[in-house]
Amino acid sequence: MKVHLKQIPPEGLHLEGDEECPILELEAEGIRCIGPLHYSIDLGVTSGALWASGSLSQAVELRCVACLEKFVHEIRVPSFAVHTELNGPETVDLTPFVREDLLLNLPAHPHCDKDGDLVCNARQLTMEAQAATRKPDWSALDKLKLES
Ligand SMILES: [Zn+2]
Repeated sequence: MKVHLKQIPPEGLHLEGDEECPILELEAEGIRCIGPLHYSIDLGVTSGALWASGSLSQAVELRCVACLEKFVHEIRVPSFAVHTELNGPETVDLTPFVREDLLLNLPAHPHCDKDGDLVCNARQLTMEAQAATRKPDWSALDKLKLES
């Protein structure tokens, strides 16, 4: 996502559109891009610095840490913000900033039921297992009695 500084008018510029997924290399870690990155960003140049603010979204396929099923998650960056000094080149590549914000908003331990649309198989199973094996556990109390 390269910005040509000459194309930014004094009053700023609004950019909106789709770009190739900037985190394609994460496929090796089981994070697969689904479709392009969508962005909606306002840009401007003031006193030798470029600022940008807006929102990003990128749909990815993740693997649930509980049931190991794949599911689709939308990474949303509602307040993407960049402020970077301009030193030399006439183009500024926003891709590193976009990547960083997407990675920060990526769930570290993805659960397929996080968005509420799906019911995680693993969660259902553990709940059933817990209900089946739930018996009163007095062992700690018994030990206490013996000691006193
Ligand atoms: Zn799951």
